[in-house]
Amino acid sequence: MSELNFETRCVHVGVDKDSAYNSCITPIYPSSTFYWDDLKTHRGFDYTRSGNPTRKALEENLTALEGGIDCRATSTGMSAIATAMYLFKPGDHIITGHDIYGGTYRLFADLLTSQGYKFSFVDMGNPELVRAAITPQTKGIWIETPSNPLLNLVDIAAITAIAQEHQLISLADNTFLSPYLQRPFEFGVDVIVHSTTKYLNGHSDVVGGAVITRHQEHADRISYVVNALGLGCSPFDAWLVLRGVKTLGPRMEAHQKGAMALARMLDAHPAVERVYYPGLETHPDHELAKRQQRGFGAMLSFDVQGSREQAEQVLTGLKLFQLAESLGGVESLVEYPETMSHASMTLEARRNAGISERTIRVSVGIEHPDDLVADMKRVLDACR
Ligand SMILES: *Cc1c(COP(=O)(O)O)cnc(C)c1O
Repeated sequence: MSELNFETRCVHVGVDKDSAYNSCITPIYPSSTFYWDDLKTHRGFDYTRSGNPTRKALEENLTALEGGIDCRATSTGMSAIATAMYLFKPGDHIITGHDIYGGTYRLFADLLTSQGYKFSFVDMGNPELVRAAITPQTKGIWIETPSNPLLNLVDIAAITAIAQEHQLISLADNTFLSPYLQRPFEFGVDVIVHSTTKYLNGHSDVVGGAVITRHQEHADRISYVVNALGLGCSPFDAWLVLRGVKTLGPRMEAHQKGAMALARMLDAHPAVERVYYPGLETHPDHELAKRQQRGFGAMLSFDVQGSREQAEQVLTGLKLFQLAESLGGVESLVEYPETMSHASMTLEARRNAGISERTIRVSVGIEHPDDLVADMKRVLDACR
């Protein structure tokens, strides 16, 4: 099916699984176990921790969307990331960004560091800093682009070139854009992880993850680890993500349309000091975004003028944007990195990363752009 266009793959891969009744939609198989035809033969599944037909259908779909050879769908994005890290062993050194997702930072800097893994957290916007961090123990590079919450980009091709030169495994967290807008395999990445909680499911009713591979040795290892640790997602969650993914293309288009309209209004509004959105020509990574992304996505942040009070006024005065963490759902959300998503960072680390007490992050949903712009403009006008 890989010759089909992306939107068609979203709808048609992982479907047609019911030869008994020809149901058009992939059935949910909640069965924990599957009986054997005889002592040597079963129909491809024996126990749901190891494999399940509904989960398998989702895995086929996500493999086709990213253009890999295999996928394992996991219980959360974090379990996908933990699984991917089993490609390494204690003593190995991994280079990553200084502004990666907070949960990933906690896993790397705390849990895995205490088990003997070594990490360097560098500004990956500058590939030379990545090159400079390489040691004889370096085995991998972990890429996340765009970053959260300030939407800094990493030049994926430049980083994978360094990885290939030094025979390092390159991994990318592609959650923020989804394969509709960015396909890291096309730029030489070896392993892709997703929090399917976000755009892939898209309806804020599942937590899930996925690891997608393009080399057989990685596929074998990931599959072994997911079974050994018991991290596979439930059949019901797999079914929901498979349903969500069918509308990924049209949803991302609608998300982006709203994000661009909102970014333009914010950029022109006197109560806003700065907007962080790669779709704006003034964004420092605008050209890179045009090169490696098929669109600019629907996450943006901005700093309000004034002080913390103005930020609070905006965050609590909105009607259409709910005050909540997470992102990628059809409904618009705002959140305050200072006390919410990035509260586990020290104050100093937040300021070093460029996050201020006036920074607001927005996950733009698929509501009509005019309504989103009007709601945001109303609270900003009141700030002056
Ligand atoms: C949400 C998120 C994760 C973690 O996913 P969960 O499903 O919450 O475990 C990892 N990376 C990024 C970029 C995310 O946004």
